[in-house]
Amino acid sequence: MTSTGNSEPVIVWFRSDLRLSDHRPFVAAAASGRPLIACYVLDEQGPTTQWALGGASRWWLHHSLAALAASLEALGGRLVLRRGPALHALSALITETDACAVHCGASAEPHGMQTEKQISVELASRGGGLISHRGALLFQPEAIRNRKGDPFQVFTPYWKTLLRAPDPGLPLACPRSPVFYPGNVRSEALEALQLIPRAPDWSKGFKGLWMPGEQGARACVEEFLANRLSRYRNARDLPHAEATSGLSAHLRFGEISPREVWHILHNHLLQNPSTSSDAEAFLRQLGWREFSYYLLHYQPELPVTPFRASFAAFPWRRDPAALESWQNGQTGYPIVDAGMRQLWQTGWMHNRVRMVVASFLVKHLLIPWQDGARWFWDTLVDADLANNSAGWQWVAGCGADAAPYFRIFNPILQGKKFDKTGAYVYRWVPELSGLPLKYVHEPWHASSEILDAAGVCLGRDYPLPIVDHADARARALTAYREMGKKIPS
Ligand SMILES: Cc1cc2nc3c(=O)[nH]c(=O)nc-3n(C[C@H](O)[C@H](O)[C@H](O)COP(=O)(O)OP(=O)(O)OC[C@H]3O[C@@H](n4cnc5c(N)ncnc54)[C@H](O)[C@@H]3O)c2cc1C
Repeated sequence: MTSTGNSEPVIVWFRSDLRLSDHRPFVAAAASGRPLIACYVLDEQGPTTQWALGGASRWWLHHSLAALAASLEALGGRLVLRRGPALHALSALITETDACAVHCGASAEPHGMQTEKQISVELASRGGGLISHRGALLFQPEAIRNRKGDPFQVFTPYWKTLLRAPDPGLPLACPRSPVFYPGNVRSEALEALQLIPRAPDWSKGFKGLWMPGEQGARACVEEFLANRLSRYRNARDLPHAEATSGLSAHLRFGEISPREVWHILHNHLLQNPSTSSDAEAFLRQLGWREFSYYLLHYQPELPVTPFRASFAAFPWRRDPAALESWQNGQTGYPIVDAGMRQLWQTGWMHNRVRMVVASFLVKHLLIPWQDGARWFWDTLVDADLANNSAGWQWVAGCGADAAPYFRIFNPILQGKKFDKTGAYVYRWVPELSGLPLKYVHEPWHASSEILDAAGVCLGRDYPLPIVDHADARARALTAYREMGKKIPS
């Protein structure tokens, strides 16, 4: 890799930033005036093995790569696909093409950073360079500290500090006419990566629902601004209202940058000041995304280790049968089952319901939050190491700024409060669709006449509750006491 003018190509290594707009590595590589090689490495080995993509994420990735490849082709380029480990794949690509540098988006995840370090050292030893560009977050974790200079542990002061920080810079436009490397570079076929489930194909419910890729991300933002934003603040907690953006997987795969979303929202606000409280509520959620990455930055063990050390002594139960009932949406609690079925069928679940099902697993069933996080990791199209780990720790009560551990969601009241019309349960638990609203969140209280009229035999068509709420609550509080926690009366 010794330089001989501007003819040696540079590699743009796409990672969790599958877009062309506001893509710093792509812009910097194009500005170098050298021919570009765009590449993606499916890295299922190396430091990422433990967090190899789950099934739903693989489905999303397949379509996102197809979309990125099409966008590059429209510019006259192509996407080279390789299998990892990233270090080997990039080294081979460099050897084959005499590329002099690799530009990539800096990872905001610990193992991704580790990979970058290794690659950087290796390429430097071979006379080349890895240039990583930040862009996965709005604000860099190192820059945000409390007055004492320590990392924040609580969201609200963290968020207030972010709001006082200078705006994230303006998004960068996609280079207009980048020059691509003309040589014939070997690439795996997308199909050969085997990201799509075959036998069985459980992804049928995903098709038509999602549009992975940059265009899909933009369409999603536009739809949100046009039809959902004005309802966001009041209805974002209602699972059937479809008032949230649905942007999470697009953000997860970097099909749109957070700062682009941030600026789109701010511009929209300037033109539609009446939506300010909705836009603020939405930006606050983007703030939770930042905060999750912030926590992961300062505690790389967040995905496996409780943030609050005292929780290591919690008396968790191993109960494979109960875990399976939860995974299959067969707990007998309709709001929980509706959520778990929405997850299985669509790869996504509403945030309120994520909290309810997670609470049910860790508090009603006393099953470790890590088991729930693993299931989400495999089944969510937006499975995101930072958001998922922080979300589960928050619900379990062991996270930073977590929900109080002694507050145990009552799944019946949660259903009645957030799914008042029962529409969410009727949709995802169709066997209860004939039940009157009064019983939809607690079918076991319906008389046998009502159940007969609705065509439901509990225990046959729909399960009886696998645990009694009051008993489970008492058991969870006992477990907290055992761990040495005080339960406020
Ligand atoms: C147990 C649990 C697990 C979760 N796992 C994930 C996960 O793997 N991936 C993921 O992206 N989110 C996760 N979340 C957070 C949240 O549920 C989703 O981000 C949200 O439901 C996505 O829908 P949306 O894009 O319509 O959200 P919107 O309400 O439109 O929010 C906009 C964006 O803000 C971010 N965001 C919203 N809420 C949160 C939050 N509580 N924490 C962090 N970021 C947030 C997301 O990037 C989201 O796309 C989890 C929450 C819980 C309680």
